[in-house]
Amino acid sequence: MRPARALVDLQALRDNYQLARELSGAKALAVLKADAYGHGAVRCAQALHAEADGFAVACIEEALELRAAGISAPILLLEGFFEASELPLIVEHDLWCVVHGLWQLQAIEQAQLAKPLNVWLKLDTGMHRVGLHPSDYPGAYQRLLASGKVAKIVLMSHFARADEPGCSRTTEQLAVFETARQGLRAEVSLRNSPAVLAWPQVPSDWVRPGIMLYGASPFEETQAHAARLQPVMTLESKVISVRELPAGEPVGYGARFVTGQPSRVGVVAMGYADGYPRHAPTGTPVMIDGQRSQLLGRVSMDMLCVDLSHLPQAGLGSRVELWGRQVLASDVAMQAETIPYELFCNLRRVPLVYSGQP
Ligand SMILES: *Cc1c(COP(=O)(O)O)cnc(C)c1O
Repeated sequence: MRPARALVDLQALRDNYQLARELSGAKALAVLKADAYGHGAVRCAQALHAEADGFAVACIEEALELRAAGISAPILLLEGFFEASELPLIVEHDLWCVVHGLWQLQAIEQAQLAKPLNVWLKLDTGMHRVGLHPSDYPGAYQRLLASGKVAKIVLMSHFARADEPGCSRTTEQLAVFETARQGLRAEVSLRNSPAVLAWPQVPSDWVRPGIMLYGASPFEETQAHAARLQPVMTLESKVISVRELPAGEPVGYGARFVTGQPSRVGVVAMGYADGYPRHAPTGTPVMIDGQRSQLLGRVSMDMLCVDLSHLPQAGLGSRVELWGRQVLASDVAMQAETIPYELFCNLRRVPLVYSGQP
């Protein structure tokens, strides 16, 4: 069997979830969208089910996958419905629903619903992606109440720059939120992972941690709370071929790396078809049998090359960690000019192997 695989430590996931709760003192919806950022939504939901206050996903398709697997906890649809025809299913499966646009509000007013909805009313406080305009917000809240179609309303918004500690934009967004919600009596939810970790002054009855659950830091710099996160995924494989090369020999497609001295090069069964980023350059860190080394040359579809020159013990069959506890996904992401979110979501072909299930 090909040795490439992603180990997923569900105990680390639970510990990170508890850290989100501890830091915020709030109820926490574990964000499991995009197949739990590539970690497997059903298995992650099952691992958190006993303790989680609820889950959040991007769309009804993702929510129904969890319901079909027997997950009975609250599930919030972060973009609500895309078509009014989803409303009966939302009610039938007891899903919570974001309302981020006036057309959704109107659809709820006009729908015949078997049960009242739980709505999270989203305000655009300055990210300018989705959410109601502040001037429409109090009116929308009143209309929801008056519609008789709603059991509970939570007031929510989303930060654009909470991953930049000290950036005044987050404070500005908070001020817009506080002004728009004056006089509205409801629970609030504002904080994603970076805001849970770095913005304790932001009020929250509910937090919405995503990336921190998976143990990756949303910050570029080290951050005290983020240092307590435990990486959940270890992407690993093995050395399947070794080359002894003299100086001046090219390695891989495009001869992007040429040996500067006599070198030992290991070939690892891992490539961009597995989701390892093709843009990772020579020098990107890897661990080989627990020792630090680096990527050499271009990443190809099924293989990549690493430096074994300083590791005489390493060779055929050596275990390679591409990211995990020793090589942080954030460090690989930075080298590849992306973010750990994208690395995790892009994972494919490699089997997910779970541990830490109670
Ligand atoms: C994805 C998402 C989150 C989680 O964000 P992280 O940065 O991964 O914590 C929270 N809220 C909303 C609305 C989201 O779309």
